[in-house]
Amino acid sequence: MPREARKPPGAAREVAVMLEANVDSACPLPCLVAVAGFTTPGSVFAMPVEGPFLATQRHMSMAIFMTLTILGALLFVVLATVMANRALSRKVRATIRDLSESEAKYRQLIENASDGIFVAGLDGTITFVNEPLAAMLGCGAHELVGRKLFDVVASTCHDEVAAALSPGGASRDCQMLDVELTGDGGRSVYCQINMSVIHTEGAPSAVQGVVRDMTQRRRLEEELRRQTEEARRFAAEMMSVHKVGVATTSVLDLSALLEVMYEQVAAIIGNESFFVALFDEQASEIRFEILVDHGVRVASFARPYPTGKGLTEWVIRSGRPLFIRDSSIDMERVPTEAIMLGDKPLSVIAVPLSVQKSVIGVMSVQSYTQRFEEDHVRIMSTIGTQAAIAIENARLYRGLKAKNELLQKSEAELKRVNARLDRQLAEVTRLHRVAERLAITDSVTGLFNHRHFQERLAEELARCERYGRYLSLLMVDIDDFKQYNDLLGHPAGDAALKAVARLLTRSVRSTDIVARYGGEEFVVTLLEAQKAHALRVAEKIRARIEAYPFPHEEQIPSGRVTVTVGVATYPADARTKKDLIYLADMACYRGKREGRNRVIEA
Ligand code: GH3
Ligand code: MG
Ligand code: MG
Repeated sequence: MPREARKPPGAAREVAVMLEANVDSACPLPCLVAVAGFTTPGSVFAMPVEGPFLATQRHMSMAIFMTLTILGALLFVVLATVMANRALSRKVRATIRDLSESEAKYRQLIENASDGIFVAGLDGTITFVNEPLAAMLGCGAHELVGRKLFDVVASTCHDEVAAALSPGGASRDCQMLDVELTGDGGRSVYCQINMSVIHTEGAPSAVQGVVRDMTQRRRLEEELRRQTEEARRFAAEMMSVHKVGVATTSVLDLSALLEVMYEQVAAIIGNESFFVALFDEQASEIRFEILVDHGVRVASFARPYPTGKGLTEWVIRSGRPLFIRDSSIDMERVPTEAIMLGDKPLSVIAVPLSVQKSVIGVMSVQSYTQRFEEDHVRIMSTIGTQAAIAIENARLYRGLKAKNELLQKSEAELKRVNARLDRQLAEVTRLHRVAERLAITDSVTGLFNHRHFQERLAEELARCERYGRYLSLLMVDIDDFKQYNDLLGHPAGDAALKAVARLLTRSVRSTDIVARYGGEEFVVTLLEAQKAHALRVAEKIRARIEAYPFPHEEQIPSGRVTVTVGVATYPADARTKKDLIYLADMACYRGKREGRNRVIEA
């Protein structure tokens, strides 16, 4: 309201102005009385001064004057009081006005605040809600007043709010709560509430809260967390793919490679159940090379292919990945009858391992506790693609290694057989040589036999003929050997034959040929020997045998073992083998006839 409209009208206003002036100048009361004695509202008094009557009159006048003065004073007091009241009421009004202005200002401040503000009793009853908070919750402020705080706080946060309202909580001046409020239509608003206690006469009587909508911030935080998690997962994926990639180029051992695959899948997805099954088309079987169930290794085994059922067989046949997110829901959609290796898993991923469009196996991960997501299928496919080539290489390497081992085994066996054959060959050769030697050797004396002598003589004669060389033939016959045998026995005769053979061999060069011609007759072919030389050798032989102490030779009539030697020389005596032998033999006969124990030339 404008200030002028509230001013009092007319004289009262003037007096009020005067009084205000006097009050303002702090004028004392006598001064105020003096002013009242001379003034009434609207007029000024004049006083008479004459006689007794006049005195009476003066008294009366005085009385009147006094009365009037008193009246004036009273009037003045009344007026002053009125003025003072008016001033007071003006001040009160001004104060009220200031207060209401202040309240309007603060209300405006509260209503225009960016944060929501509420006041609630200690029992949780909301007594005030500002518009921003009402807007935050999507309803009018009046709808919230009178309701309980718990009606708008999500049930998950009730305990926190209850604690803040409890005597213990209310005893703290200020508390910061992170709560979820449930707005209109059930939408969630994530807020931070700065709750403080309102005290009345020193005791907590209510709480007030400044509510800040953190939904956007929380959404950003969640988005950041999601992106961070995604980046972390992506990095882990890349690391796994990298490790499988490294293994692809460096690991040739199939078992080691399968271990790397299991490690990587376990690190990213989980290690509850896992297997890699390889398809052996030639053997018509699926071989589960690595198998883990409930985190425990299971021995590898093979299953025939095809059987017309089983998820692994389906993946091999279709070449497509299989994903069962929740077996309790999705099993009807599975394209084939499953064969359970153990308990029924909750979630299954099985991806084909393909090399150049042909499926060489299946890699699968299962969980009894978690549901896999599409992301996991993608990771499995990526690892599977990387690993398939390496598996194929390792499998080829394994086959090659097996073949190589077989080859090495065969080679070793061959070596053994060869060694045995060599040994057998050596034995055969030895036996052959023995047989050969036996064929040309006389069994009693160890000298060449008759046949070999004939052959060698023919060869040597041919050589002599070709090269114009000489040779001589000695025919050596033991004298009266029949007597020796008869007297000393056949074994003694054999021993004597051996002794003669030794003496003959020692008496000639190693290149000369000593042979048993038959019975007790020997032939010696002296190579490069002309007659004279041959006669010397023959004589040496004769003398040596004569001198040799044969056992019991003294018992025979002659008292000693002797020989008669016939000597014939090529080409001086004969040019043919037959003639040469004949001439030597004839010379020997002649020696016999002439008394034995001598050398006779042809
Ligand atoms: P001569 O001085 O005329 O040669 O008389 P001899 O007794 O030596 O000749 P004879 O032809 O009458 O007898 C040869 C004997 O040689 C007959 C046989 O008892 C003996 N004799 C032949 N071959 C063997 C043999 O392999 N072992 C033994 N112990 N005696 C043999
Ligand atoms: Mg004889
Ligand atoms: Mg004889």
